[in-house]
Amino acid sequence: MPRTAAASSLARLGEFGLIRRLRAKFGRTGPSVIRGIGDDTAIIRPAPGRWWLLTTDLLAEGIHFATDTATYEDIGYRAAVANLSDIAAMGGVPHYLLASIAIPSGRSAADIDRLYRGLMRACRRHRVDLVGGDTSASRHGLLVSIALIGSVEPGRALTRDAARAGDAIYVTGTLGDALAGLALLSAQRTRGPGSRTLSAPHRRFLMARHLRPTPRLLAGRLLAMRRVATAAIDLSDGLSGDLAHICEQSDVGAEIEAAALPLSPACRAYAASRRMDPSRLALTGGEDYELLFTVPPRHEATLRRLSGKAGCRFTRIGHIRSKAFGQRLRRPDGTLQRLAVTSYRHFERPASTH
Ligand code: ADP
Ligand code: MG
Repeated sequence: MPRTAAASSLARLGEFGLIRRLRAKFGRTGPSVIRGIGDDTAIIRPAPGRWWLLTTDLLAEGIHFATDTATYEDIGYRAAVANLSDIAAMGGVPHYLLASIAIPSGRSAADIDRLYRGLMRACRRHRVDLVGGDTSASRHGLLVSIALIGSVEPGRALTRDAARAGDAIYVTGTLGDALAGLALLSAQRTRGPGSRTLSAPHRRFLMARHLRPTPRLLAGRLLAMRRVATAAIDLSDGLSGDLAHICEQSDVGAEIEAAALPLSPACRAYAASRRMDPSRLALTGGEDYELLFTVPPRHEATLRRLSGKAGCRFTRIGHIRSKAFGQRLRRPDGTLQRLAVTSYRHFERPASTH
């Protein structure tokens, strides 16, 4: 459909037509939802004896995504994962989603359908129900704000303030892939220096790690239920920055071993093709949505037994030290350097497609 005709379909539908359409396509809910989309609020039957986990994430066009490096389905998928990952990092189970969108002119109803299709594809896997949201026009790009409600057994949540000196530091999966994938997608857009030497499967893997990340819900659950981890955080801004949050809130320091950082073969190949140090990608790259967590030494054997059940690898990348030690990186040659926070921070440098 030509752009103007496509856009006018949204004008024809109107706000309430769009909401009705979203409800019909994506609003089916499970038995704990007494009222979903359509009333002033949703009504939920609370699960007895559980604690609620509430989280929200805002994605802004031009800051968190761009429509020339991601499809609307990808954007929806990643918006859901950003929230699912927060629930994973608490060791919880996700349940209900509210999706608020501000739509600039020139977008079609089909674009919004695709966004919701991506959103719900990420959610259905975890039996999360869409129970509401809000809809507005926007003058400055697309905004997608997701709120997710989950739950956890009383006292079992994995918080950021429970790491203790001597705990081992672990991460799930591999690091740096999403950043490499984003660089490849951006290079494709600008026809900039991509990585022509990189194989097609490696390129596809890295781009998929950016566009379709996996929230580590199963790993988070296991860590919380088996009482293996003390603190946890999801890696959304980058290891160096996210680790700093744990250190700050737990009042501790940390030593990370550069040589231990888990890197995928594709990430190594990408770094080699750009003559980069791959551990820089792992320390800086955000949006891998892996979990970083701390484990007291007495629980490391249990953790090893769990690793086959979590759907991802657990890699020990360092250990918690005293606050006075600070946060340092042990380089492969054995020397220690300060672990500078190189991950993304809003307001600190010009916005990029983070
Ligand atoms: P109110 O004016 O009370 O905010 P709305 O007309 O905005 O009500 O919303 C009506 C219903 O539709 C509510 O249940 C709301 O949660 C839901 N809703 C509105 N926009 C969206 C959306 N973009 N996605 C999902 N549900 C939505
Ligand atoms: Mg509203």
